Amino acid sequence: MSKGTDHILINTKSCDVCGKCIEACPKEVLGKVNIIFHKHVHIDEAEQCIGCLKCVKACPQNAIISRHDLKKADISSALYDYRHRRSHRHDHRTVTARQ
Ligand code: SF4
Ligand code: SF4
Repeated sequence: MSKGTDHILINTKSCDVCGKCIEACPKEVLGKVNIIFHKHVHIDEAEQCIGCLKCVKACPQNAIISRHDLKKADISSALYDYRHRRSHRHDHRTVTARQ
């Protein structure tokens, strides 16, 4: 069972099955798993997703995220790591030069 489409990803652990994303989706992409002790939203028709992100906006639990935002977050995090490593190297050189 898929937990995402080309445009969105669902964190099923955060989902409380309120159904707001299902109502918001214009393409009937989303459905529910509704078994005792196993309840969450899931993807019924991944290929129908048009990336409108109405489900992302509708979710009160922030359980659905856009893949585009995730890529931006990855890039920001990679940039932060790179800058952090550079500044750390610079500090190390400064200390070494002073000795
Ligand atoms: S992005 Fe739009 S089409 Fe895709 S699942 Fe969410 S509401 Fe439906
Ligand atoms: S709106 Fe969020 S919490 Fe509600 S069913 Fe959809 S994913 Fe789950």
